[in-house]
Amino acid sequence: MKKYLIIGGGVAGLAAACRLIEKGEKPLILEAGSYPSHKICGEFFSPECVAWLKRWGITFEQEIHQITLRSGQRTFTYPLLQPAGSMSHLSFDSKLLNRALEGGAEIWPNTPVLDILPTAEGFLVTVSQGQKIEVKNLIVAVGKLPFFRKTALKPTYYGIKAYFSHLPVKEKVVMFSLPGSYLGVSEVEKGIFNVACLTQHPFAFAGELIEKIKKEDAYLNDLFNEGKMLFSDWMVASIPEFGLKATPSWNRAYFIGDASITIPPASGAGLSIALASGILAADYAKDGNPEGFKKAWKKSHLLQLKAASLLHHLMLRPKLLQLAMRASPFLPGLTNFSFRSTRERYFSGHLGSY
Ligand SMILES: Cc1cc2nc3c(=O)[nH]c(=O)nc-3n(C[C@H](O)[C@H](O)[C@H](O)COP(=O)(O)OP(=O)(O)OC[C@H]3O[C@@H](n4cnc5c(N)ncnc54)[C@H](O)[C@@H]3O)c2cc1C
Repeated sequence: MKKYLIIGGGVAGLAAACRLIEKGEKPLILEAGSYPSHKICGEFFSPECVAWLKRWGITFEQEIHQITLRSGQRTFTYPLLQPAGSMSHLSFDSKLLNRALEGGAEIWPNTPVLDILPTAEGFLVTVSQGQKIEVKNLIVAVGKLPFFRKTALKPTYYGIKAYFSHLPVKEKVVMFSLPGSYLGVSEVEKGIFNVACLTQHPFAFAGELIEKIKKEDAYLNDLFNEGKMLFSDWMVASIPEFGLKATPSWNRAYFIGDASITIPPASGAGLSIALASGILAADYAKDGNPEGFKKAWKKSHLLQLKAASLLHHLMLRPKLLQLAMRASPFLPGLTNFSFRSTRERYFSGHLGSY
């Protein structure tokens, strides 16, 4: 019987593996896809997780010292007290993967889990080849579309991503608010920009959405006309609802990352949540305390989810956002409180001890 099995080798699953290794364990990770792979994500790493990742020897060439919001003619710049970072999933996931492998984790790529059956001792997990694995402690890190859900999730939003060069952007990160969509541009490597967009508008193909955006925003129109797309096509995914996930109440199971909480990307907090939940779940799993994990984890995110949700709805409504941008110089305390509320608290609470 395996002592620790992690289903899903994205950021959350790999972080859990790295932490279990620090605690002297050698987990098995089952990953449906292969490495390295691109993911639909703005690839912005928030300041609190950047500071923490230094512990694992992961540093960011692209440091971000401020975030710029643009909506119509208005621009708002928020200076960060500590630098955030930007890095492609290809690079970041490889760094975490190597750390896990060097520490002795076993990783099976191209191995989707098909079924999980709770048993008296733990779980019986069925993988694609029909193979069954017995496991005592299970960490579920399958992302935003949990396969154990019986009813299909309706897409509420759509996400797209591509890389560009030759973008005449001075800022390291700039977010654009458009009616029913928002779009982020961040430099992931020198001269290479991630462009990721979340939209409520269904579209036949991503190019159609981009044409609509170009008509809505003259600045973005110029940007897309000058930029050179480095992908053969946009990556596209449908995104279900955001919020806390309903998860099965299995004993000895720990749901982490997007499988536990999917936070609106406007907050730029999904990756720090993935990392923090992986680390925390490993700590609680080592102590055999799934209930403790559930309490410690979900409760502490209610305010963060509310703040992220507010920002998300403002970003989808440029007129309202512009009003908020006009008011912010007069309400610096509220602006700081709103930003800080979207941050992952786990790291700020633990940084001092490392
Ligand atoms: C448009 C958009 C932009 C975003 N931008 C940012 C940003 O800039 N900054 C930020 O912090 N967050 C951002 N996010 C959120 C962030 O990307 C996610 O919160 C984060 O990647 C979640 O990590 P995860 O490990 O939980 O899930 P994932 O990265 O989805 O990993 C889950 C893994 O599980 C595997 N898997 C799934 N099912 C199975 C199965 N049955 N068996 C085995 N393996 C399985 C998948 O192949 C995958 O590798 C963005 C999200 C969107 C949609």
